[in-house]
Amino acid sequence: MTPIIEFRDVNKYYGKLHALKNINLTINEGEVVSIIGPSGSGKSTLIRTMNGLERINSGQLIVTGHDLADKATDINKIRKNVGMVFQNFNLYENHTVLENVTLAPKIVLKRPDDENKEIAMRYLEKVGMADKANAYPRQVSGGQKQRVAIARSLAMHPKVILFDEPTSALDPEMIQDVLDVMKYVAEQGITMVVVTHEMGFARKVGTRLIFFDKGEVLEDRKPEEFFAHPDTERARDFLSKVI
Ligand code: ADP
Ligand code: MG
Repeated sequence: MTPIIEFRDVNKYYGKLHALKNINLTINEGEVVSIIGPSGSGKSTLIRTMNGLERINSGQLIVTGHDLADKATDINKIRKNVGMVFQNFNLYENHTVLENVTLAPKIVLKRPDDENKEIAMRYLEKVGMADKANAYPRQVSGGQKQRVAIARSLAMHPKVILFDEPTSALDPEMIQDVLDVMKYVAEQGITMVVVTHEMGFARKVGTRLIFFDKGEVLEDRKPEEFFAHPDTERARDFLSKVI
């Protein structure tokens, strides 16, 4: 197994709040890791450290071979390999759908225009948004925005894509379309780390399940085992509320 992300004794504080407590965790190539847990437990903090959106206070965090805790590490190099999909899409509102997908490959990867557009259209096709290529984000629905955001990530050909509650801001009827696209991403063999409340996704698409609470990994197991027999009282209590 090839590790893509490795936490070694990682701690993170917000002032006095101990948000990540001595995290030791290795995520390997090809895994689809779902992270579930109560609100405020530190899931976003955990996933945002993985591409340097949050800094850690101690320990080592090796992402695609580089230690994020090392000041000499160039974060932009790492972000080429680490995509991120947010709850609120974070599309560029003043750019078209197509431009949203072509912008980073053009600027960061210096991909030539023709090839860039071809690759972007191919991914927009995959997520069912090719016919909206020239629309602006405000002209499409939340679910459609999220599918564009996923196409945008895919177009960078990252080693791993991080998802922080990608369906939590969506109307219920749009959730499944986005989950279907995420399933497609998983089928491509792209490593995924997904903070989610979608237990169906965690159970059926995920290859590994992390139950996170109060800044700690409480369970880290195969999804089917977790859902059949959660080990901890806190996980049982959480599941009783969400299922
Ligand atoms: P989750 O994603 O599981 O809901 P978060 O990682 O967002 O949890 O938050 C974990 C804890 O850290 C919460 O108590 C939250 O209030 C706190 N927190 C998150 N971001 C910040 C911040 N930028 N400054 C101070 N406290 C924060
Ligand atoms: Mg969160």
